[in-house]
Order: sequence, then C-alpha cells, then structure tokens
Amino acid sequence: MEGFRERFILCCQSTFPCFGDPANEFTKPPNRELPPTPVEKPGCVYIALYDYTARTENDLSFNAGDKLEPLRKEEDWWYARGITGISANKEGYIPANYVAPEESLDAEPWYFPETKRLEAEKMLMSQENKNGAFLIRNCESQAGELSLSALLQNKKVKHFKIRRLDNGGYFVSRIQSFFTLKELVEHYSNVDGLSVRLTEPCKKTMAPETHGLSYNTVDQWEIPRSSLKLLKKLGAGQFGEVYEGIWNDSTAVAVKTLKPGSMDTKDFLREAQIMKKLRHPKLIQLYAVCTTEEPIYIVTELMSNGSLLEYLQKDRGASLQMSDQIEMGSQVASGMAFIELQNYIHRDLAARNVLVGDNNVCKVADFGLARVFQMENENVYEAKEGGKFPVKWTAPEAIHENKFTIKSDVWSFGILLYEIVTFGQMPYPTMTNFQVIQQLPKGYRMPCPLNCPKYLYDIMSECWKDSPADRPTFETLQWKLEDCFDMDVSSYDDTNRY
Ligand code: AMP
Repeated sequence: MEGFRERFILCCQSTFPCFGDPANEFTKPPNRELPPTPVEKPGCVYIALYDYTARTENDLSFNAGDKLEPLRKEEDWWYARGITGISANKEGYIPANYVAPEESLDAEPWYFPETKRLEAEKMLMSQENKNGAFLIRNCESQAGELSLSALLQNKKVKHFKIRRLDNGGYFVSRIQSFFTLKELVEHYSNVDGLSVRLTEPCKKTMAPETHGLSYNTVDQWEIPRSSLKLLKKLGAGQFGEVYEGIWNDSTAVAVKTLKPGSMDTKDFLREAQIMKKLRHPKLIQLYAVCTTEEPIYIVTELMSNGSLLEYLQKDRGASLQMSDQIEMGSQVASGMAFIELQNYIHRDLAARNVLVGDNNVCKVADFGLARVFQMENENVYEAKEGGKFPVKWTAPEAIHENKFTIKSDVWSFGILLYEIVTFGQMPYPTMTNFQVIQQLPKGYRMPCPLNCPKYLYDIMSECWKDSPADRPTFETLQWKLEDCFDMDVSSYDDTNRY
C-alpha cells in the first residue's frame, strides 16, 4: 500500500507544474480595467456559508444564509449582487470560497466535507452547540464515504457511518434508507432512530481564509505601506520583528518587518512569487508585500497563538493531550504533503516555523524563506560553508553535501515530532551541534522520549533513515498520523465505527 502511495505521489509530481520559473508579476500592470466577462447565466443563486464583512469599499458584506447572484466570476473573488439579507440589492466583490450554489450539498449548513473526525469532535463540543448538534463529513478511513457526527447528552460525540445503496440512496441503519442526505437528516431530526435526535447543524465558527486580502490584492499584491497600521509587537525572529497589524482599517494581519540588508530584494521577490501560489489550509498564506523601501514588510494571515514552539513550551501538557499532539503533527504533515506535491522544499521545518491559531490549528510558515535569508540566530543556525544551518534539524546529506530535498524536510519533520512530544525541548539535549554532526553518520539517533508512544517514535525513526529514499513521503506521514487517531476508539459507535 505504502509503495502504491509513494508511486502515486511520483505520478502526481510529474504532472504538476514546478514553480521554479516565476514570471515577474510584480511589474505586470493590473488588468482590472478590462471589461468584465459574464460567465454565469443570470439568475443562478448562491448561498453564503459564512458571515463576511467588507474590507474595501468595493466589497459586499453578507451574513451566512444570505442569497447572492454572481454577476461576474473570476478565480477567487466574484462580483455579485445581494438578493436577500444585509446585501440585498447591493453589488460588490465577494470571496468565492464563502458561497455555494443554492440546493447543492455544499450549501447545506450541516455539510462539513473536509472536517476530520477529531476536528468534528472539537467543533461539536464547543460551547455554542447543544445536544443533538450534528454534521456530515467525509470519512477519513474510507475515501468517498461519509460519516455523521452528533453531540450526545453527556457531551460526547458519536460517529455513524452513512452507507450508500447501489441505486444511490443512503442509510445509517438498514431499516430505513433515503434518496438524499437531506431526507436522511430530516428523518433523524424527527424520530429517535439513532441514539440521539438530530437538532441543529454544528455552528460554523471559523470562516476559511479568503484568497488574498481582497479582489484588488490578488494581482496587485505590492500594497501601499500606508494601508497598514502596526498595532502590537508579537515577537522577533531571525529576520526581523513581527507585528499584529490591521490592513485598510478592516482586516487583522501579521506584518513581518525585515531587518534591512537581511536579504536581496530581488531574490526575495522571486521566492515570494512561488510562496504566494502555495495555498493550502495548513500553510500560512502570504497576503501582500511592501518592498519599495526598507524595511520590507511581508503581510500574512495572523495566528492567535504564535509559534508552535512557544505554544508547546508554555503548555507543557497542562491542556494538550497526546491526541492533540498527534493531531498537530498530522496538520503539519498535511501542509508539507501539499508542498511535496508542488515539488517545493521548505528547508527550515521546525516547531519555531509552525504557527498556531484557535483550537490548536497549526499552519506551516516561512516555507522557502531559508533560501533567501542570511540566518542569524547563532544558537540554532550554525555557519557552514555556503550558508548557515539549523544543525539539529538538518538531514546529514543537507549538512555535508548541501542536498536539500523534500526528503531532508522529512528528516526535519521527525525532529519536529520530537519537539511536539517533548513540549518544545531542544533536540539532542545533551549534545552540541558538533557532536550531532559527528554522531549521526555513526548511526546515532535520539532515543524514544519519555511518555512518547512507540508508534510515534517508530514514525520519527522512519524520518531519520540514512538514505533519503528510504524515508516516507509526507503523504504517508499524514495518513500514518491520522491512523493513530483510530487507535482511540472510545468515541465510536460500536457497530458503526467511522
Ligand atoms: P519569526 O520571525 O517568523 O521567527 O517570528 C517571530 C515570532 O513572531 C514568532 O515566534 C511568533 O510568536 C510571532 N509570529 C510570527 N508570525 C506570526 C503570525 N503570522 N501570526 C502570529 N504570530 C506570529
């Protein structure tokens, strides 16, 4: 199976474009003045899935449930007219990922396709939900299948497999089947056929990131410095300082201000072109830049809990449990699996470069930046010929032969798992960088940390195989970590484990 997955990835890699040859979009004039191309037949109605507050005077505010008609569709932002609710009879831009066609499955308030089992439990158990709150999601362990997750009276979540009939119908129990999921939901909202009667759809608390800050910044992402206000310093890293800021007086962002001279602006812009295209729920989105004068600003999405390293060190097990730690690891693997699929390389994967938001959401940050920056943190980045390396995170072939590949990222991921499980302990705690460099070729590897389950240590050890080709792919790492959840079966319905 694993061999198949690895081969599958290789096939995908060969068909995906390699982002190594960026066109210089920075100097390209914006083409927003072109006449609009209507592509939507008039009258096609969409439903808002989340609330959205206008960020510019060209945007349209709306609430979840409002009806909208797209008048002009472009990739990420559509020009639309409000039909009902606060946007009724107004026109403006809307983020395309906030709406779904009326009557489609995506428009159903209980349909959460991309939600994982553990995420579903967390969402359902949050304060806003009452007994019987529910959602339908894709089943993790069986591609193409669906699961129903519902909140019970005792604040536990139960999961039911939704089975399909050959003729396209659905059922949870063979006693009764339904033509559509909607009928299934209506039925179990009216009768006690399951051990819980379904009440309201799970509340959608977290809206997804929009693609870019606004319609205008998708192409014109060199933004005026004056559109940003820096509010609070969040931290300082090897490249400069990071601030919580606000863009256009409307949108919370993180602003990284770069130390003058810490990199070549042209190199950075070339790399930023690539970073901008890497969009995934588990990667920090690069929104915009200010590069016309120093200090350069990098504007990204804001994460409420800062770096994973600080988050782990602060918590030290007070609220995080092993299942949370494994879930955090699987989120990082998921972001990295996307980087792998795009033939990109992170080069500095470590807990300090992962950011944490609400509900332990983790996103990989600073991908690709290591290539353009001069590393300055002497405790972590050791000078070597041709650059500085975070020695304890770097694969031997990258240290000795400067061979950075996705497989050297996999090595670093093993170290990151060590950081997660030890609540942010320095790897090889008793060894210097020099000792690590000496010992690794002799076969030395960190022992299993205290309280680390064997299956997790086995995953780390796989990442630290001598030969890069023997290390797993990130896709494999992701499903191996997700499979760890299935080892805790306490929350499943006995007969319908999904
Ligand atoms: P860095 O320069 O990336 O090492 O960032 C320094 C510190 O700023 C990190 O340790 C985080 O605590 C904080 N930080 C960086 N980026 C963000 C962000 N996008 N959202 C919230 N905090 C951040």
